[in-house]
Amino acid sequence: MSEPANPARTAVVLGGSHAGMLVARALSGFADRVVVIERDALPDGPAPRRGLPQARHAHMLWSGGVRAVEELLPGVTEALLDAGARRSPVTTDMVVLGPRGWFRRWPESHHVILAGRDLLDATVRDLVLADERIELLAGTEATGLVGDAGAVTGVRVRTRGAADGREDTAAGVERTVSAALVVDATGRGSRAGGWLQALGLPEVERREVDSGLAYASRLYLAPERARSGYPIVNVQPDPRDGRPGRAGFLLPIEDGRWIVTLNGTRGGEPTADNDDFVRFAREELRHPVIGELLERAEPLSDVSLTRATVNRRSFYERMAAWPEGFAVVGDALAAYNPLYGHGLAVAAQSAVALRDAVRRHGWGSAGLSRRVQRAVARPAGAAWDLAVGQDVFYPGATETGPTLRDRILAAYVGRLMLTATGSGRIARRVTDVTSLERGPQVLLTPTVLLAATAGPLKRPLTGPPLTPSERERAGLR
Ligand SMILES: Cc1cc2nc3c(=O)[nH]c(=O)nc-3n(C[C@H](O)[C@H](O)[C@H](O)COP(=O)(O)OP(=O)(O)OC[C@H]3O[C@@H](n4cnc5c(N)ncnc54)[C@H](O)[C@@H]3O)c2cc1C
Repeated sequence: MSEPANPARTAVVLGGSHAGMLVARALSGFADRVVVIERDALPDGPAPRRGLPQARHAHMLWSGGVRAVEELLPGVTEALLDAGARRSPVTTDMVVLGPRGWFRRWPESHHVILAGRDLLDATVRDLVLADERIELLAGTEATGLVGDAGAVTGVRVRTRGAADGREDTAAGVERTVSAALVVDATGRGSRAGGWLQALGLPEVERREVDSGLAYASRLYLAPERARSGYPIVNVQPDPRDGRPGRAGFLLPIEDGRWIVTLNGTRGGEPTADNDDFVRFAREELRHPVIGELLERAEPLSDVSLTRATVNRRSFYERMAAWPEGFAVVGDALAAYNPLYGHGLAVAAQSAVALRDAVRRHGWGSAGLSRRVQRAVARPAGAAWDLAVGQDVFYPGATETGPTLRDRILAAYVGRLMLTATGSGRIARRVTDVTSLERGPQVLLTPTVLLAATAGPLKRPLTGPPLTPSERERAGLR
């Protein structure tokens, strides 16, 4: 690629994954040219790559995120469904053992999109790169910012070459790409904090809350008659039982496959041992249903294990000084315990927030990047509060443990979860929040408070609410 003709009309996005692609789309039109700089060589279709190890694990996109992606890329849901992704109504197509009992399968309140992560990314990427104003510079690593503490004016990049499995490019060629706005979307491993310090800015305030969760995932081919129209199955821990939190998810995705994730906090971690996977699902979770379903499914992969589950947030929006021409989004800004499935939705909502801030204040206006950083911190902060509010209870997650406020809120959320097992109205309010469609204030209205005081309206279920047909198709008795 040649140096952009007019840097003042150029935006550069670092990282060509979910957040990077959506931000590129959000900036297209404000900038004449958006250059996405991605370290990996990106595959033509849905295929694994080194820079996206989490793609081996289950991913769901909650409807609050689907709405945001649709806003940026109209028709994306249809493209995903055409490619085999599933749209699963919440809680209608969900069999969930919550902390306080089995949820009933209430009429649809919200939905999730289920797909292998590689398919999701390839679909979004194709739609984004169809825009001629967006240019992909793959096999290229961002190594630092150019500018000073007052303004970022570009980024230093280095081509990766034969050493990185690419034969077509000379390795290690370094140069600068100039731009009016550089957005860091390089994920959990972002080096933005250090890059800003190199420009003379102070260290950013960071916080980590680590539940110690280990995440093991494996891909299965579903039993033949359960390959379409099967519900999500999810067994959650009960934080009151004093045991490590162990959970399991079975998500039906494209091509009749199930992606199954088993996880556990300190002292209750799953292993990467293929032979232990079904045993863990049967014996270590609060109910054996996932293990029972797997007995009749065919494994298609080995178990992948990750511990990249710590909640980590950099509070860039609080910095006393912030340079023009720079912003940080996606996991680079805040990464969450994947158990809550919010990272993708937050990245999409942040891209919309960034677009709206640029639209409101004008491309190139003074203080724009500060405004963008504050705008993207809002969706990031909402998901952060949800994740951290629960994870502080795991032993060793923080130095000080939960505060009194954390304990009061958790007691109330526990009561709401119990009520939601036997009240469709409260289940809807709870999923308003978990789907990132609405903020947690909807759980504090007088009607919800009253309903929580009264408790569930229906008797608790005694087992997983699978229909006779679902049981029979999966070979369960
Ligand atoms: C096990 C697991 C399960 C998850 N499940 C869910 C889920 O169910 N639902 C959900 O919403 N979220 C889930 N998440 C979170 C989700 O994966 C992330 O929130 C999402 O990938 C963030 O997107 P991103 O673009 O910010 O970062 P990433 O997807 O991590 O992408 C970063 C990109 O930057 C590139 N890059 C890195 N450094 C450089 C550099 N120096 N120069 C150029 N390019 C660079 C990388 O190659 C990569 O392409 C899960 C995460 C994990 C770990």
